[in-house]
Amino acid sequence: TPVVGVLALQGDVREHLIALASADALARPVRRPEELAEVDGLVIPGGESTTISKLATLFGVMEPLRARVRDGMPVYGTCAGMIMLADKILDPRSGQETVGGIDMIVRRNAFGRQNESFEAAVDVKGVEGAPVEGVFIRAPWVESVGAQVEVVAEHEGHIVAVRQGNALATSFHPELTGDHRVHALFVEMARGNTRAGSL
Ligand code: GLN
Repeated sequence: TPVVGVLALQGDVREHLIALASADALARPVRRPEELAEVDGLVIPGGESTTISKLATLFGVMEPLRARVRDGMPVYGTCAGMIMLADKILDPRSGQETVGGIDMIVRRNAFGRQNESFEAAVDVKGVEGAPVEGVFIRAPWVESVGAQVEVVAEHEGHIVAVRQGNALATSFHPELTGDHRVHALFVEMARGNTRAGSL
């Protein structure tokens, strides 16, 4: 069973812990570098990406996180977490940094005022069966991707889910629905990374 952490600095941590547990992972919150070292994979939750960025630096996990992502640790970011995984933000706030790992440019709050929050059925490559109910809350979209990036979902012509190697990101929040198929997909990615000897 893979141990999957949720970066627990700010955002909807609890919902991800619950979704991961129901997708058969051992889920635990991660705040410190020592805790990061113990997980097979990591979720970066939704919330506010500038706040998460600043707290990650403050807690000393930004650099260790970059190192583990570079080393290929499976990582999944939702919404603000997607922004954290972008190599580049189109419109960063001052002091806002990212972990990076996905060769993409994201636009924060991209869907605009009329559409601050909405739900839409989204077809996600790799998720079998009916479309996923996408919950979008002041969501980013992906402006452009590099050659290594696979687009796994679009909504109205905009890229809303991507994968590059062991890194997965969605603009929307599967953890806020009862449907945990996207988490199950990620847990499978983390299972591939389970180190010998860990459970
Ligand atoms: N708009 C937020 C940001 O820029 C993300 C919103 C979310 O995670 N639901 O960080």
